[in-house]
Amino acid sequence: MRLSGLGVSAGIGIGRALVVTRGMRQLCFRIPERRVGDELARLDSARVHSRVQIEHIKQRIADAAGTEHAYLFDAQLLMLDDPMLVERAAAIIRDEHLNAESALQRALDEVSALFDQLDDPYLRERKGDVADVVGRLCVNLRSDGDPIDLFRDVEGPLVLVAEELSPSLIAQLDFQRLAALVTDAGSWTYHTAILARSMHVPAVAGLRHASGVIPPGALVAVDGATGDVLVDPPEDVVADLEARSRKRRAYEQSLDEYGDLPAVTLDGAPIRIEANVELPEEAVRARLRGAEGIGLYRSEFLLAGTSATGLDEDAQYLVYRRLLEAMDGRRVTVRTFDVTEAQMGLSRDGEHSRSPLGLRGLRLSLSFDEVFQAQLRALLRAAVHGPLRIMFPFVTGVEELRAARTAVAHAADALRADGVPVPDVPIGIMIEVPSAALTIDLLAEEADFVSIGTNDLIQYCLAVDRTDDRVSGMYAPLHPAILRVLRHVARGARRGGLAVSVCGEMAADPVLIPLLAGLGLREFSMAPTAIPASKQVVRSLRLSDTIRLASRALKAATPTDVERVLAESFSAARR
Ligand code: PEP
Ligand code: MG
Repeated sequence: MRLSGLGVSAGIGIGRALVVTRGMRQLCFRIPERRVGDELARLDSARVHSRVQIEHIKQRIADAAGTEHAYLFDAQLLMLDDPMLVERAAAIIRDEHLNAESALQRALDEVSALFDQLDDPYLRERKGDVADVVGRLCVNLRSDGDPIDLFRDVEGPLVLVAEELSPSLIAQLDFQRLAALVTDAGSWTYHTAILARSMHVPAVAGLRHASGVIPPGALVAVDGATGDVLVDPPEDVVADLEARSRKRRAYEQSLDEYGDLPAVTLDGAPIRIEANVELPEEAVRARLRGAEGIGLYRSEFLLAGTSATGLDEDAQYLVYRRLLEAMDGRRVTVRTFDVTEAQMGLSRDGEHSRSPLGLRGLRLSLSFDEVFQAQLRALLRAAVHGPLRIMFPFVTGVEELRAARTAVAHAADALRADGVPVPDVPIGIMIEVPSAALTIDLLAEEADFVSIGTNDLIQYCLAVDRTDDRVSGMYAPLHPAILRVLRHVARGARRGGLAVSVCGEMAADPVLIPLLAGLGLREFSMAPTAIPASKQVVRSLRLSDTIRLASRALKAATPTDVERVLAESFSAARR
């Protein structure tokens, strides 16, 4: 079987499918033979727990509404003992070595297929009861262990196949075990895709139905460049892919030497290349690849598996300090939490807004003072260990920047009052909302630096949801509007004497670096893996050529026309 999606992290990965559905609540995979006994015991214990629970519910309903209304639960109790359900699942565990959740799912599918053939609509509807029983069994299986712990036991390289994967969740996984990630949802700037690129894990997103059609345990080959996903491919195809993968690795290694070289154009202009980091341990990789600093540390990844209130000041201080120490005197820019209320696990009145346009980023921090102060104090305390910069996400204008500066001053005063030394820390903002881009002249008066987040800036300028694969074709970094907005920010920053960098995914595409340089941008921050190729490109450029390229691109009317201009200049440079 061949599926086709959006390649979002290049490279080839081959491994056994671990299928994750219902938001990580259900993991389906093949278990090693030695685990079969444990798995059968888990299933049995889930059955025992489920029986106790259903009997309890039945009693409550009988007490409240009379025994005649409790009969439904008799049917559920019978289902627990039906040989076609739990016993069938046990047979699947024994014979096919699937984990209990996948075995139950399979048994449910088989029973459902039988129900579908029935003529009696009343009986057909009982299918819902079987699903209810299976749902309960799965919940009870889960109480026997965290699914993430279970997957530690699965052997071999794994291809994680999921409907959707939250970045905070994959941040908790062991990347050494992952040959590739494939998701039904998502697109290029989906945070999970960004993380996959950072961690060098091939990934394909936007596959729509992969989690429903790829059987757990199947051999899956993923090409993160083309977006092809092959299920149980023939041996010769696997051999061919492995050969391509080796070639790719050799090419990447050949670029490694550029990591150590300075990023200077042929006409002597220095370009600053830094790394985007989501996990503190990536700092080492960033340095190895030649990063001159960390241009964006997405601190919200610290919230993986915890809530903002569960993450105290000292724990954060240690992480920021570790980053600064790992970068050994190089600049580290930490962005304060950029999440929505729901992702932060916070809300004032029990109402969670998931909207990216609700309480998010700096707005959210400003409305939860305790959480904000804890983060700022941790940052200011860490700043004695190296050149730290604090950056605020999702700023719409000067007032928010002022409020953030007041919060920083408050945190610094409180620390100094306690005798804690606090150095001066540059304060900057992301330019990722059109209103901030348009008021760059005003922001330049009050910010110490800015960094352009093209991922959000593009989605809000073009009104295209960056995480929705159905409109990903309209997510056009080369749209004339984007080129104009970038030129506007670069000019405004230059006139205001403001340092400006680009940390969105546009900066990680070596093909776009000449254009960005020509638009006046000189600092880029990207996934560590992209650094050597970017340095190679920088070292082959003349700024005067890039300026001509940008002015031609600015005359083009459509993204396709801009692409043509880039392609022409690329082939002229190779001639
Ligand atoms: C951006 O929006 O470009 C950015 C770098 O931030 P994030 O991708 O985390 O939203
Ligand atoms: Mg952003």
